[in-house]
Amino acid sequence: MKTTKLQVSPETPENEKISTAVEFIKKGELVAFPTETVYGLGANAFDPQAIRKIYLAKGRPSDNPLIVHVSSLDMAQELVIESVSSYEIANRLWPGPVTLIFRKNKRIPDVVTGGMETVGIRFPAHPIALALISRSGVPIAAPSANLSGKPSPTEEKHVLEDMDGRIACIVLGGKTLFGLESTIIDMTRNRPTLLRPGPVSPERLKDLLPELVVPEFVMAKQGYKGPALSPGMKYRHYSPDVELILVEGTPEESSKKIEELVKQSERKTVVLCTEETKELYPKNFDRIVLGSRENLYIVAANLFGALRELPAQGFQLLISEAFPESGIGLAIMNRLRKAAWKILRV
Ligand code: AMP
Ligand code: MG
Repeated sequence: MKTTKLQVSPETPENEKISTAVEFIKKGELVAFPTETVYGLGANAFDPQAIRKIYLAKGRPSDNPLIVHVSSLDMAQELVIESVSSYEIANRLWPGPVTLIFRKNKRIPDVVTGGMETVGIRFPAHPIALALISRSGVPIAAPSANLSGKPSPTEEKHVLEDMDGRIACIVLGGKTLFGLESTIIDMTRNRPTLLRPGPVSPERLKDLLPELVVPEFVMAKQGYKGPALSPGMKYRHYSPDVELILVEGTPEESSKKIEELVKQSERKTVVLCTEETKELYPKNFDRIVLGSRENLYIVAANLFGALRELPAQGFQLLISEAFPESGIGLAIMNRLRKAAWKILRV
């Protein structure tokens, strides 16, 4: 399939280019587009045929439900049974990088939710996403625009790598701001429940939702045997193409362990570290600095790119430091633990 590529300004999306993308959505075709979290792979949420194309293009299991993106609270309200605006969290965090699970009404086809009675809704803040949804006039179902099992795309080259030739249209709008997928909260349980940590910190969520439950599986620790709560959680996500070892412990202790591992390794190995820790390693080691421990948002924004690109650069083993689990650090650790082939605690 020939893919139409549109280079669009992320601040002030050009009208004519958005019109081209809107035409594809209206014809039941797929459009990849940037959001403030990661790139999404979108289709008209009311069109079951179009939705099936998403699962095909990604190779995604059909029981893994899609998040439906809206461009207003009114559009969200048309899809669910609950009164959306009665939830403080919707009023306060939308538009933004948060997905809320509500009970769906009949307008959402079953293929969107993998047959579930609930639906994840997100009102993104990105100007391109908002323009695409509002001008299409329909909600847009969109999982991340990667092939199933690959890290979510955070840069133009990632989405081209996975989707060029597979879908009708790609809107290119630069690197995404957060670089990690949305925070997901299930509002249909007795108490609101965090299903996936994301850009909104757990501390901020607890402020808005003092009753919030943070289940153990959210930590993605090895050996967790309990229920998945969200269908997507049972799949191994964010998988880099080569082995990733995560070493958990203080920077001083883990750097010693990592040094040992690198010296033993017979493969081309790279260490994922930070400004503050890179000097803890011998100078002849391959090191990639993800950002600073003072600003974990930068680490988050660079993580998926590193997991994707380092194997392509010929590295055969990635070894990563761990990060504090506060702020966006909880989401970083959730993704790293899910991506890791092995977790070592020192
Ligand atoms: P992605 O769009 O690729 O970031 O994946 C969406 C995630 O949201 C998956 O992990 C899904 O399992 C989860 N999700 C979507 N809809 C629901 C729902 N109704 N209930 C629980 N989890 C959901
Ligand atoms: Mg995904």
